[in-house]
Amino acid sequence: PRPYLGDPKYTIEVLQKYNFAFQKRFGQNFLIDTHVLDKIIDSAQITKDDFVLEIGPGIGTMTQYLAEAAREVAAVEIDKTLLPILDDTLKDWDNVTVINNDILKVDIRQLALEKNQGRPIKVVANLPYYITTPIIMGLFENQVPVDSITIMVQKEVADRMQVGPGTKDYGALSLAVQYYAKPKIVANVPPNCFMPRPKVGSAVIRLERYEKPPVEVKNEKLMFRIIRASFNQRRKTLVNGLKNSQEIPFSKEQIEQALGMCGLSLSVRGEALTLAQFAQLANAFTEIS
Ligand code: SAM
Repeated sequence: PRPYLGDPKYTIEVLQKYNFAFQKRFGQNFLIDTHVLDKIIDSAQITKDDFVLEIGPGIGTMTQYLAEAAREVAAVEIDKTLLPILDDTLKDWDNVTVINNDILKVDIRQLALEKNQGRPIKVVANLPYYITTPIIMGLFENQVPVDSITIMVQKEVADRMQVGPGTKDYGALSLAVQYYAKPKIVANVPPNCFMPRPKVGSAVIRLERYEKPPVEVKNEKLMFRIIRASFNQRRKTLVNGLKNSQEIPFSKEQIEQALGMCGLSLSVRGEALTLAQFAQLANAFTEIS
């Protein structure tokens, strides 16, 4: 078998055959560009040893490519009206399992255990934009064994994952992603590569998981609480952001002491801190509490 979807002619044929109605609430924009598909498969670095989890296969466009490249693929799709279509478009590949569920309700750790003996899996997806962040954070925080995540996201979100301090896109997502993985944008994808066309540009980003985070943190949960608190009130100083947060159990004096230990000015804003500085700050709090 050869992948054939991605050619708009076949995509339209399949959609018409099944009289498929796009559902906006599921973020359905199907890829119709074979160059982009090749690029995704290429940068995901999939081999015949790999088990791949695909999130949101749609009509199976990328799934066909993944099935060709990988040992085994599991594709989780929420929209049950796509099931008969996937049965049809994937009938030539015997290494694909379609799971009809909401990805946020799937126990991916269990899936990796069953399908890959708990070894690190590769995740590939053209994500519905409304659940990008919870999916990525879920994969990183819930101790799912992940080797890399190669995903299509809104261009602006890809930028946010990649940037450092001093840009308006820098925020909690940047820091969370960069604590767990090395991000790299591998392609920019314009709206005309999808059917129907989305309103915004997209990008493919590859997140390669670190074996060990690039900074040492004694209390990860505390560091992420500090990060969230400092970006929740972007225009406030770090001291005020931390003081006003329900999640931060420290007094004004303790906060000032911790900043002092890190050589940070009391007027500094959270958005100016690097990941290494947030780690240092979290460690200072751990030391004084
Ligand atoms: N992979 C296909 C492609 O590239 O053409 C489809 C991509 S489309 C942007 C997103 C897909 O994710 C849709 O098929 C949609 O139904 C599915 N989806 C949306 N929310 C989901 C969820 N919570 N869990 C699993 N799949 C979901």
